[in-house]
Amino acid sequence: MKSISLLGATGSIGQQTLDIVKDHQEEFEIAALASGKNIEKTKEIIREFSPKLVSMQSEEDARALSKEFPELEVTHGSQGLIDVATYSDSNVLLNAVLGSIGLESTLAAIRQKKAIAIANKETLVTAGHLVMAEAKKYGAPILPVDSEHSALWQSMNGENPKSVERLILTASGGSFRDKTREELEGVTVKQALNHPNWSMGAKITIDSATLMNKGLEVIEAAVLYGMSYDKIDVLIHRESIIHSMVEYHDSSVMAQLGTADMRTPIQYALSYPERLPRSTAERLDLAKIGQLHFENVDFDRFRCLGFAYEAGRMGGTILTAMNAANEAAVGSFLQEKITFLQIEDVIERVMQTHDNVQNPDLETILAVDKETRKIVEGMIK
Ligand code: NDP
Ligand code: MG
Repeated sequence: MKSISLLGATGSIGQQTLDIVKDHQEEFEIAALASGKNIEKTKEIIREFSPKLVSMQSEEDARALSKEFPELEVTHGSQGLIDVATYSDSNVLLNAVLGSIGLESTLAAIRQKKAIAIANKETLVTAGHLVMAEAKKYGAPILPVDSEHSALWQSMNGENPKSVERLILTASGGSFRDKTREELEGVTVKQALNHPNWSMGAKITIDSATLMNKGLEVIEAAVLYGMSYDKIDVLIHRESIIHSMVEYHDSSVMAQLGTADMRTPIQYALSYPERLPRSTAERLDLAKIGQLHFENVDFDRFRCLGFAYEAGRMGGTILTAMNAANEAAVGSFLQEKITFLQIEDVIERVMQTHDNVQNPDLETILAVDKETRKIVEGMIK
């Protein structure tokens, strides 16, 4: 039995994780969970999954839960995320919280030698070197949940990592893949939230539209698989059937295919090294799909991908600054305070003026993250 600590239970990945737990009650249980502000959904989850520890973002919500569920252990805030991640009865952390706020709880769970199923890519972008070093030191496995990284992982199973020539990340291209640069000027939040293939949380859907999501994933791949940026390519593949590929020295290319359903990579991260059946999954019907398409990315039309390669190659705190600038800018776009293309402008200005520090420690990373959000706030005002 795997006992899971689930961060971000009320979100898109969190809910799909709960679907998997429900489908495999012999294998998985929810020992502890953390939500943000959605207390009503959290109550439903408590009734259905009976966790022993629950964290809410605010103290007020935590108190309300305590009243309604007197048996339940309750915590809150950023310490609450750490409490849930390190809960003694759990052996796996599934981190599906949004943004770099997931970093400290991930590090804390690694130090408790828990397996880390990670959806929270911002953690790997902002502090990948710390996470991987600690994971190695404590022997905590890092299991990717992101579909591309799960595909790379599955395509490398049993292979010698030294034979890998290139990682090829596929990208749907997001909501605006057919728009010209001029057309991108006037796009709305509603249009940006309308992803052609995947149903996801708001922030990652915007990241997909700017291609920053693919940029974050390039960095995530470099961190997880120790690849140099020259050996990671991005290919637009509008059907989202091939989730990513690995090319080997002998010119063979291995790929993982499937329908666009995050529950498959979530389940794989939880069940690894086993594969469990998925009776509710839509099966892949290639004859029905007929054709798969591929094209190169236009780095001029979508500038965020280039920013991510640049930050990745530089290394250091510029990764934290770029990620925090993106989180803040996307938040402002969602609140209609800036336009879609201004997301790029904000990130570019932050990166141009950033004083880069190599090999930052946790304290430095947290300080840069906080400072960058303040800078962006000032810019937008
Ligand atoms: P959502 O916005 O749907 O969910 C985010 C979750 O985090 C919610 O449960 C939210 O709580 C919680 N949360 C947000 N802020 C806080 C906080 N300060 N304290 C505690 N909890 C908080 O996001 P997604 O599920 O889409 O994405 C989660 C992560 O997974 C991201 O890093 C994303 O990049 C990654 N990912 C997502 C994919 C997807 O298909 N959705 C695919 C691959 C990766 P509440 O709602 O209660 O406020
Ligand atoms: Mg992905």
